[in-house]
Amino acid sequence: TEPVLSVRDLRVEFESRRGVLRAIDGVSFEIARGEVLGVVGESGAGKSVTGAAVIGLIDPPGRIAGGEIRLSGLRIDNVPAEELRRIRGKRIGMIFQDPLTSLNPLYRIGDQLTETIRTHLDLAAPAARKRAIDLLAEVGIPAPEKRIDAYPHEFSGGMRQRVVIALAICAEPELIIADEPTTALDVSVQAQIITLIKRLGRDHGTAVMLVTHDMGVIAETCDRVAVMYSGRIAEIGPVRDVVQEPLHPYAKGLMGAIPTLAGDAPRLTQIRGAMPRLSAIPPGCAFHPRCDFAFERCRIERPEPLAHSAQQVACHLFDAGSTEHAA
Ligand code: SF4
Ligand code: MG
Repeated sequence: TEPVLSVRDLRVEFESRRGVLRAIDGVSFEIARGEVLGVVGESGAGKSVTGAAVIGLIDPPGRIAGGEIRLSGLRIDNVPAEELRRIRGKRIGMIFQDPLTSLNPLYRIGDQLTETIRTHLDLAAPAARKRAIDLLAEVGIPAPEKRIDAYPHEFSGGMRQRVVIALAICAEPELIIADEPTTALDVSVQAQIITLIKRLGRDHGTAVMLVTHDMGVIAETCDRVAVMYSGRIAEIGPVRDVVQEPLHPYAKGLMGAIPTLAGDAPRLTQIRGAMPRLSAIPPGCAFHPRCDFAFERCRIERPEPLAHSAQQVACHLFDAGSTEHAA
């Protein structure tokens, strides 16, 4: 069956004074109905840019320079801005790190929800309000029939993020893009929000793309995970495999730094150096200056993704034709 989201050979570029910077350089992945795909990597790896490209939020001087993005088969990377706005609101829900960017502080929660519901669904005001109350209940807001007339500032950060999730799902979207949805929240609330997002995917068959730097969140939530590095996918596969037996040397280092949901931000203690700036991505494998396994070919030839059991890995060690072997 057709995936909900299909991204093929996506390239995103930014004009800068130093020339064209390639933020995303040949990224391909799919997300099926009801599946949660985690996208993980250090800051600057291209996770958020990938999400922004899918929802058509790459603004000049950035642009989609190549590839295809399809939503349930429909090309959405080249549709007019007006049509994309409609698709974005109705068929793709968005959840960002800071709930206050998605909520208007001057409007009651219920008004924001009913307005969004009525924009996308053909419902009269009382029916839209009823649906808003049901949605607030579904995302775990206690006594929703009373809280619906509160203002955003009357809610805690975690409760506000639940409201944002209610907004994101109110038109029953096929796809939800969540970019660091728990990063701004108290640790004790993070797990609840993650559980909620996971349950929504399961109950509604929604495909979820979850962007995070937090491997703990990935391990708790996702069916599959894509590890990004310098605008490419280093490894993608079932979360069990990638977390427990990562293949790519970068993924190995990242998994060695898994924090728990109760822990701090990941520190890549096992990987020396830092991810290169976009203006200075090394030739060959972008990871080679940091890789303990690098050999001649890595400095010259860029590794393409290769199937390796249930995973895909872009590393010359896993190319059967290579002279070196994955030990
Ligand atoms: Fe390391 Fe080479 Fe694999 Fe890149 S291709 S991760 S440098 S072994
Ligand atoms: Mg980001």
